Amino acid sequence: MESKLFEMISSLRIASVLINAAAFAAAQDGRIADLILRHGAIYTMDAARSWVESVAVANGRIIFAGPDAGITRLVGPSTKIVELSGRMVLPAFHDSHVHLMEGGVDMSLCNVKSVLTPREVLAEIHKFAAAHPDRPWITGSGWDLPVFPEANPRSEQLDEAVSDRPAYIESADGHSGWANSKALALAGITKDTPDSAGGRIERDRVTKQPTGTLRESARELVTSKIPPATAEENAAGLKRAVEFANSLGIVSVQEADASDEILNAYRTLDTRGQLTVKAVAALRTDPRRSDDQVAGLIERRARFSGKRMRAIAVKIFADGVIESGTAALLDPYLNRGGSRGDLNFEPDRLTSLVTRLDREGFQVHIHAIGDRAIRVSLDAHEAAQRTNRRRDARHHIAHLELIEPQDIPRFRELAIIANFQPLWAFADPYVRDLTLGPLGPERSRWLYPMASVLKTGAVMVAGSDWPVTSLNPIEAIQVAVTRRGPTEPEGPAWIPEEKVDLSAILAAYTINGAYLNHEETETGSIEVGKAADLIVLNRDLFKIPRDKIHEAKVVWTLLEGQEVFRAPEF
Ligand SMILES: [Zn+2]
Repeated sequence: MESKLFEMISSLRIASVLINAAAFAAAQDGRIADLILRHGAIYTMDAARSWVESVAVANGRIIFAGPDAGITRLVGPSTKIVELSGRMVLPAFHDSHVHLMEGGVDMSLCNVKSVLTPREVLAEIHKFAAAHPDRPWITGSGWDLPVFPEANPRSEQLDEAVSDRPAYIESADGHSGWANSKALALAGITKDTPDSAGGRIERDRVTKQPTGTLRESARELVTSKIPPATAEENAAGLKRAVEFANSLGIVSVQEADASDEILNAYRTLDTRGQLTVKAVAALRTDPRRSDDQVAGLIERRARFSGKRMRAIAVKIFADGVIESGTAALLDPYLNRGGSRGDLNFEPDRLTSLVTRLDREGFQVHIHAIGDRAIRVSLDAHEAAQRTNRRRDARHHIAHLELIEPQDIPRFRELAIIANFQPLWAFADPYVRDLTLGPLGPERSRWLYPMASVLKTGAVMVAGSDWPVTSLNPIEAIQVAVTRRGPTEPEGPAWIPEEKVDLSAILAAYTINGAYLNHEETETGSIEVGKAADLIVLNRDLFKIPRDKIHEAKVVWTLLEGQEVFRAPEF
């Protein structure tokens, strides 16, 4: 079966090489290439999903994409020719939901990601604290909710690792925080402190004393006491993150929750010529405020748009996450005393804000995880379109963990782009231990229903949500086509109906990501006239078994024809 498929794919390649005689003709305008990549397996992601053998670049633009025979006339004395020897080339990746600056700053903080037991987590934190005796606070992130009973680590535990200073470690999903006793005391959190709106202080069932874990907005009680990173530290963090993204083939992002600190860091890099990604920033909103914040967003859009950065989107958090019971569901969680979770915005307020933002020409980027949050978000867009008439807004909803089946066709109907984080779509401990039980089997069928959304004809984009989960698109691509963990051996898929085609998920990471950012005429596919945003991979993703896709690596990344990453082996 597989080999038959490969045969089909190869014959398609030949056919598309013929089709690309048109592209060949278009390039014959006497120009000489600066750079030629030849003898490759180049998947262009054009509308016909054509394969070609060669691509030529001049002044950062693609001047030819077609058969090897077509490049001869484009070679001049100074043309650099790269032999691909059959290697795969793709348009460079677009990450449609990422927190680059936070991820980059986190790289210099305490990181306990993928540490599997409480004892090891504490050992890591202790080691970090010992190595950084001058830091007044020990901060970091990455603890996985399933590592601790009820996702509820305690301050006494953290005291064992750090007792001389306040310490605060954020969970991997970024929705919970873990404080030691010194940090709780500095924040003034006692048993009399009330839960903030949209937040929860975890408490001992008997004594009602805070236990050390803070959910959602309750985290601000502590985070507001942590000395903020300096502007230069933020810029350095963003630079580190951008270089890391380039090494994974990413040259375009949507920054998913841009505060002024983040915007300033982008602007600093952009001004210094160090911003080697094209970025759309989704401006941060305050769920406690209503439409009165829109004027400030309009001002930021103008102030923070630069060469490679545009602040044209706005981020709204509609709800929290399922694992800690803060995602808004249509029907109750099965383990939380009848709770359905909370919406951050009552539906009328959300509709009013979305309508206003749409009218002001913003793209709205909503975080919605539970089926009620997703429905209310779609309702808000439907109402906004009734009021404002539909425009080419490319609004999107990110995460889309649990979609009620009746809402699946509405993405297409309302032209709302589905922004998935494909790496989440397998039965990891978050799903097995903290999601399937609280939802029950019937609802769980509709977790991350990527194929069902695609089938309706909706546009799908994809992102990492890094530093929540891995920034590497290759791993997420494998999960999307297998519905199994990136390093799990071959075996039964989790909800196999929702596996997607390799070409569909590649489109989500390339041309559709460009479309999301209103840049599909500029980037996202390998076509004459577009920027040479290209990657070379060491393996052809179509030629390796699906469960080995994660072994493939980006070995060369070009942004507008300029090298922004090269692996030593290439
Ligand atoms: Zn996010």
